[in-house]
Amino acid sequence: MHRVIQSFLAFALLALTACYTNPVTGRRSLVLLSQGEEVTLGQQSFSDIRKKEKVSTDPAYNARVTRIGQRIAQAVGNELPDAKWEFVVFDSPELNAFALPGGKVGVYTGLLKLAENDAELATVMGHEIGHVIARHGAERMSEALLISGLGEVAGAVVEAKTDTGNRQLFDLAYGGLATVGRVLPHSRNNESEADRMGAVYAARAGYDPRAAITFWQKMVSQKQASEKGGGKASSVSALLSTHPADEKRISDLKALMPQVVPLYEANRARFRDGPSSTPPATPASKAAPAATAVPTSPATPAKALAPRRP
Ligand SMILES: [Zn+2]
Repeated sequence: MHRVIQSFLAFALLALTACYTNPVTGRRSLVLLSQGEEVTLGQQSFSDIRKKEKVSTDPAYNARVTRIGQRIAQAVGNELPDAKWEFVVFDSPELNAFALPGGKVGVYTGLLKLAENDAELATVMGHEIGHVIARHGAERMSEALLISGLGEVAGAVVEAKTDTGNRQLFDLAYGGLATVGRVLPHSRNNESEADRMGAVYAARAGYDPRAAITFWQKMVSQKQASEKGGGKASSVSALLSTHPADEKRISDLKALMPQVVPLYEANRARFRDGPSSTPPATPASKAAPAATAVPTSPATPAKALAPRRP
């Protein structure tokens, strides 16, 4: 295709699509999928993963993941529109956790053992949910669609995004694992954004965001052990293959803490009487706005301090 026509079509296409603004960081991105399409693909992918993997029936593991997940879901509120939250534990030694559009969250028992306390698990789950709310997968899909050719993109935008090719692209971009068996590593920028969002969601949910530092320090140790063992541990460390665990991540997390620890201090009192008193999270769209107010500026964390209930 002639470059001029291609450029014109690209411009026309971009003009037709809306930019997405991240509700936590304010970053704007180009996304060619609607959130409804993302949710549909997320549900399909989650359904496939549930069939493929062994779902854990361990009551303690399930109670823990659900308890933390519901608090984070409430902290997310309407920042994930139309979420139908599901929290599933997979019985596998893999160090892995993921979240898919629509509020589908999977945690592997291997990771549950590594994340010793609820705050550590909350920051990891918040991080994965952060990727979804940032729409990183849809952004990656959009980039791939643009690269794959404008004719295909135009078709992909017009048609439903649920054909096989797009499902594979989705799984690749989101790390759904079900159909392609491999995933793209996240970019450093996406990781940094998801770390920040995960810390904010954990803090809003009354979990100490400093737990992200101790968790990722353990992941660094896991990585080093894996490298010493000649990569033997790679099969049990899916999270490490997509999430670089290194000193840069640790130092970035430390630098982030002055912004998010006050948010935690402001919210922790709501959960002081223990997790058992926490009511189930309402669907995101119905969550009380007062409880989910987002401090867009780190300087105003107290704005998130609305009492959840009288
Ligand atoms: Zn990540």
